[in-house]
Amino acid sequence: MDCIFCKVVNKEIPSSMLYEDDEIVVIKDIEPKAPVHLLIIPKKHIPSLNQLEPEDKELIGKLVLVGKEMAKNQGVNESGYRLTFNVGKDSGQTINHLHLHLLGGRKLIFA
Ligand code: 5GP
Ligand code: ZN
Repeated sequence: MDCIFCKVVNKEIPSSMLYEDDEIVVIKDIEPKAPVHLLIIPKKHIPSLNQLEPEDKELIGKLVLVGKEMAKNQGVNESGYRLTFNVGKDSGQTINHLHLHLLGGRKLIFA
């Protein structure tokens, strides 16, 4: 499948991987929008939250828990951070493989 994040997961394209387990990888965003900008990505190809199924309940919970742990690991858990799913074109979603953004390290203006 021609999916950038499937290629990242399968290590067909290089990325700086900060965490990996059997279901999830965490990489640095290639164009960081904040001092801390990580992407928490399930290995399973799910195009967006719109295609999330009840069977994915544990996986989505685990993404959030890994996001929280990475915020601590990156030292922004006390200063604050944002975990964001973009869904569809109005959100600016550009990669149709579900991913959770972790943003922190600066004041985040809501938009
Ligand atoms: P979206 O807008 O789809 O929610 O976010 C996709 C994110 O992936 C963007 O912030 C973009 O900078 C990042 N990105 C796109 N291609 C690559 C890549 O090949 N490697 C990494 N590490 N990040 C990427
Ligand atoms: Zn994919």
